[in-house]
Amino acid sequence: MTCKGICTRHKAIRTKKSSHYLAGHRRCQICSIFIQWNGIFCPCCGYRLRSKPRGKIYKEKFNENKKNGKIEDQTIIIT
Ligand SMILES: [Zn+2]
Ligand SMILES: [Zn+2]
Repeated sequence: MTCKGICTRHKAIRTKKSSHYLAGHRRCQICSIFIQWNGIFCPCCGYRLRSKPRGKIYKEKFNENKKNGKIEDQTIIIT
């Protein structure tokens, strides 16, 4: 399961009003990208996509990444 670059063709365009998850975008952990895709699996790497935040655990991970400066385009998720 590796990124083949196909995901960039389906890259989700973030809207200012709502989060990616509300807009129906899905996140691929392998590709580290939000894509506009109706399937359960990433069309690029085949990994199962996440369609909604995981709550507490997710937020903790988010904060951890934030601390480490690893946050890229995820900020909008929990706003
Ligand atoms: Zn990919
Ligand atoms: Zn992927």
